[in-house]
Amino acid sequence: MKCAACGGDMIEKNGDLDLRIHEKLYIVRNINYEECSKCGETVIKPGASERIYNKIKNHHYIKEMMEIPVIQGVMA
Ligand SMILES: [Zn+2]
Repeated sequence: MKCAACGGDMIEKNGDLDLRIHEKLYIVRNINYEECSKCGETVIKPGASERIYNKIKNHHYIKEMMEIPVIQGVMA
């Protein structure tokens, strides 16, 4: 598969992804996805994203506390 953004080669990967869905940040652990070798664009398989949405809808997730670095005021 080729990257929709830049045409680079997509590579199959396994691991964790952070997703922003409806303004909320979710960490998805242990997911297989494709990542562009050039620009880093990630694509989740349709079946997997459906399962993620179902899990969110049914509140099938745990909550973990995690420190997120926040960078402010970066204007060119
Ligand atoms: Zn790309």
